[in-house]
Amino acid sequence: MSMTEDLEELKGYALTLGAICAVVIPAGEVVFDERTVLKCRYGCPSYGRYLTCPPFTPAPSEFEKALRSYGWAILLECDTGDLNRLVVEVEREAMRRGYYLAMGLKGHRCSLCDECVPAGEPCRDPLNARPSMSGLGINVFATLERAGIERRLAATGEGYKSWGMVLVD
Ligand code: SF4
Repeated sequence: MSMTEDLEELKGYALTLGAICAVVIPAGEVVFDERTVLKCRYGCPSYGRYLTCPPFTPAPSEFEKALRSYGWAILLECDTGDLNRLVVEVEREAMRRGYYLAMGLKGHRCSLCDECVPAGEPCRDPLNARPSMSGLGINVFATLERAGIERRLAATGEGYKSWGMVLVD
């Protein structure tokens, strides 16, 4: 099966898992902006409290270098509570198809525990915890706009929707 077919099937798989929207873009079109980490640091209550958020995540320059080695990013929208499971399941399906370096990322703090572990202690669920996109320096809104996706914000009153991403090489 070609990569194009695999990407189409991964999108379809995401939709069967409950994704509202699934869009494939070249990984090179993911927009980086280190100011996102400033927004984590000043104004986000999760800063320093979750292992999937700064300052525990890789620096944007380090992560951008790794991300540019991927060919594709599958952008996924779903209800906030389903996001972690969705990106992990799509990542695993990509790995089963031979893309063993596939990597899921999500918006927001880790939602797998009510409270994360104290600094210095290991994650309770390392197989499923995935990092915050903005904490890695990804400008999610600019990436969605570049992909031609109308972004939906909490203020719409339609219920909060979130975006994640699965990188596939
Ligand atoms: S799974 Fe739990 S311990 Fe691990 S990063 Fe998420 S909140 Fe923290």
